[in-house]
Amino acid sequence: MKRTLYRNLDIYNEDTHIKGDILVAGDTIEAIGDIDMAADEVYDCTGMVAMPGLCDIHVHFRDPGQTHKEDIITGCAAAAAGGVTAVCCMPNTSPVCDDPKIADYQREKARNTGVHVYPVGATTVNMAGEKLADFAAYADNGITMVSDDGHPVANAELMREALEKSEKYGILVASHCEDLDIVNGGIMNKGKVSEELGVKGIDRASEDSIVAREIALADSCGARIHICHLSTRGSLETVRDAKKRGIKVTCETAPHYFMCNDTLLLKRDADYRMNPPLRDESDRLAIIEGVADGTIDCIITDHAPHTAQEKAVFEKAPNGVVGLETSFAATLTAFVHTGLLPYESIVRLMSAEPRRIAHIPEVRIEQGAKAEFIIADPDHEWYVEPEKLKSRSKNTLFKGTVLKGKVMLTISEGRVIYMDNAFGRAVKNPMDMLAAKIIEKNNPTVVGLDPKLEYIPEYIKLAAVEKHGPGLKAAAAAILRFNKEIRDAVCDLVPAVKPQSAYYEMYGHHGIKTLEKTIEYAKSKGLFVILDGKRNDIGATMQAYSAAYLGATDVFGQPEQAFGADALTINGYLGTDGIKTALETGGAMFVLVKTSNKSSGELQDRRLCDGKTVYETMGDMCEKWGAPYIGESGYSTVGAVIGATYPEMLAEMREKLPHTFFLIPGYGAQGGGAEGVAKGFDKNGLGAIVNSSRAVMCAYKKENCDERDFAQAARREVIRMKEDIISHIPAIRYPDKIDG
Ligand SMILES: [Zn+2]
Repeated sequence: MKRTLYRNLDIYNEDTHIKGDILVAGDTIEAIGDIDMAADEVYDCTGMVAMPGLCDIHVHFRDPGQTHKEDIITGCAAAAAGGVTAVCCMPNTSPVCDDPKIADYQREKARNTGVHVYPVGATTVNMAGEKLADFAAYADNGITMVSDDGHPVANAELMREALEKSEKYGILVASHCEDLDIVNGGIMNKGKVSEELGVKGIDRASEDSIVAREIALADSCGARIHICHLSTRGSLETVRDAKKRGIKVTCETAPHYFMCNDTLLLKRDADYRMNPPLRDESDRLAIIEGVADGTIDCIITDHAPHTAQEKAVFEKAPNGVVGLETSFAATLTAFVHTGLLPYESIVRLMSAEPRRIAHIPEVRIEQGAKAEFIIADPDHEWYVEPEKLKSRSKNTLFKGTVLKGKVMLTISEGRVIYMDNAFGRAVKNPMDMLAAKIIEKNNPTVVGLDPKLEYIPEYIKLAAVEKHGPGLKAAAAAILRFNKEIRDAVCDLVPAVKPQSAYYEMYGHHGIKTLEKTIEYAKSKGLFVILDGKRNDIGATMQAYSAAYLGATDVFGQPEQAFGADALTINGYLGTDGIKTALETGGAMFVLVKTSNKSSGELQDRRLCDGKTVYETMGDMCEKWGAPYIGESGYSTVGAVIGATYPEMLAEMREKLPHTFFLIPGYGAQGGGAEGVAKGFDKNGLGAIVNSSRAVMCAYKKENCDERDFAQAARREVIRMKEDIISHIPAIRYPDKIDG
């Protein structure tokens, strides 16, 4: 079972706050607090907050019927990116969700997304406002909320019946409060701005009057009522008063009502149109007060995707904005960063209270609970760029604005369902991980896995051929078995392995599969994986390589790890473009600076017109590229490959490149003795890792022992090499403090 440790968080529930760590084992929070236990993966989350998964009880996912705008899958991806692990989907789909079969379809489609979808049933059949839907069937199906959202239930008597029935079945009625006679074709808030634009406005009374009506109806039958997307100062006053009188009313608002007012409509851009409309500044301030004093119970998004085409004409476009990916950031910006509310209140407004209102199971961060939480960087400022949203539609009214606070990681059902690109970089400097593993094992060597078939004992090859027949598949199978046995024999001794991609690629897709499994298996044994692929390309193509080997590939909105190595060897001769892209994925790299092959000097030793050699220049570039990515070990995520065959060069480069970690191949070759490679290390015995491939893999041949003893022979060689090198370098330890 995989265990992941998130360290140094501020951990919040609605009623608790502790500083500490969260250990997740499988799908469960195994421990929280000050944790001193081993884990497969450790993330330093200093400066970040953890909260239970958010819950949005008012979204429109357009599925079935209008999946060109959004479907359950893209909607859930948007939710995950916004830290939302539970959503209530409004029933105005096509067909309308007035039949449990539609609800079953929606839940089933969401099943593997990690986001819990709770379908809302229509209050009236086909949302036509004429006849109540079958509440008993809803209750049997597990539907806990009804609404005709998008439309009011115009007939007050029908609404009263719905409220009475809802009590009987334990269902909540959520009301979209709007008097359509008052609306009468209006498309925005009625006021100064609508006059200036010469556009028909909607009087606040359209909302205020129906809010008052719903409260009166709820009061008359002692039922609960939930007011959707509250937007006016008038309806806020009415709810506040009703709560004082003990009426069972709850209400919600959306970030756009506390972040924006109707002056945005002056842009004549339909991305600022929704229903209810943006009101004026007096309403906005009232909504802020209502959230701050608790009159407003929860924050929702009313996430309403529409395509750019549909939103093209200001007056004719449909109402609605997307919001799932910005609501957390907007709420922190408006309430936490202004000092109005503490984080605990954000948990209440965006997770705990909406779950209680909609009868959704509670989620907490505590020992033994299911792991369903978010990690956010509250101080991360970001531009909202519509094209980067996971939602299929891009109609966000926060486009081009800066919000403060970003969800970095969303965990649900025991897995990461969203990881922000900035997260890996923010919490885990891979060179620090490598340094930590070197210190732990007291061994600065890496086993190269370049398994030529001739290295592999005959009995393994025979067994593979017997099983698969002679061919690429047998070769790949033999290599996988060989690698596994070597790794099992040395994984307690070495910090890292370095598979050389070419020796896998040569066996086609069988070989690639073996490479993938080799990396996966090494990581499961806690080894740092340097993939020797010598890749590079220009920006976008390098982004693809980085996703493939270092980060994750975005597949239909979900991050999926393809190979997942920790570091990649890179050819730096394309300059900054590709390097910059790779660095942004958060992985580490080793750039070819001075290689150990015979002809390396032909180009690398040439002097440029400033008198520096090509390899010196490349070394300088590594220092420069890595400067923003220096970790606690003092080394950046940009390392350099420098051959062991030139000890004097190693010494010179160690001096000149204080933040560049060296990968040193060529140990054991001419000039590459321990004394020579020692010159690549710093005063703490760090800053370099020495590779040995053939000597380890073929140790059994050199020893002339039984080939079945190959793995133990490899172990003996690893020990010999380790002793040889550590006897020539300073004692390995963490630096006291980072210089530079
Ligand atoms: Zn609505």
